[in-house]
Amino acid sequence: MISYDLRGKAALVTGGASGIGLATVRILGKSGCKVAINHLADDARGQEQVEALRAEGMDVISAPGDVGDAEGCAAMVEAAAASLGRLDYLVNNAGTPGTRTSIAPHELDRLTEELWHAVLEVNLLGVFRCAKAAAPHLRKAGGAIVNTASIAGLSFPGSSPAYGASKAGVISITQNLARGLGPEVRVNAVAPGAVNSTWQVQWSNEERATTIEKAVLKRRCEPEDIAEAIVFLLAGAKMVTGQTLVVDGGLTL
Ligand code: NAD
Repeated sequence: MISYDLRGKAALVTGGASGIGLATVRILGKSGCKVAINHLADDARGQEQVEALRAEGMDVISAPGDVGDAEGCAAMVEAAAASLGRLDYLVNNAGTPGTRTSIAPHELDRLTEELWHAVLEVNLLGVFRCAKAAAPHLRKAGGAIVNTASIAGLSFPGSSPAYGASKAGVISITQNLARGLGPEVRVNAVAPGAVNSTWQVQWSNEERATTIEKAVLKRRCEPEDIAEAIVFLLAGAKMVTGQTLVVDGGLTL
């Protein structure tokens, strides 16, 4: 596992109680970084993970809040930064597909207004809101942001055209946040391929097999594969900003 000496640093990871977010929290925590784990207020995994990681010796706190809610999101970031005492790293990882079964590009009737709003509020506006609220703290610390995009924001058909558009937006806002927050703060993104996580979309066995078959490295990603790239972009990669790193085992190659 990748490891840095991050003692004295502090991070906020959104959607940090499961999957890619939790794997990122673990690497940061094991590297000595203090971490605020954002999770939806009614998601019991938040408090469970805080207790489990503390029992393993990591310095973590809970940061409940919905990044899809403008006021709640800003308040959550402020409260987390205040509890941590500083903020060096922000990982904008919370995301939703807005659907449990994938929606093909020709199924226009399934792309409802409701779905568009749910997906854009969380996946795209949530990223901007957290970055905006965290910016003064990150500037002061000379910190970094990593956003979780997706290969669905590049060329791959993801769970729906709305989801793909939200993640393409994440790639774009990553570039503009990098321009806007530099030189103090670096801003990058990762674009995961197919990941074995608790992601809500129920892919069929056939769809899962296809992602393995098509990948050059012949397996699906584990959350840790993505988390390693996230922590590299946060704590290493000192001359990298505005970039999106594809981590998909060659699925889109
Ligand atoms: P996951 O479902 O385990 O993680 C998503 C987390 O975000 C969950 O903990 C969820 O509760 C949280 N969340 C959802 N809405 C939220 C909100 N409004 N406010 C706060 N938290 C909220 O799945 P994951 O695969 O670890 O997903 C993490 C990120 O990776 C997402 O942004 C997703 O779009 C992206 N991604 C996943 C895959 C994949 O194949 N799983 C591929 C590409 C990109």
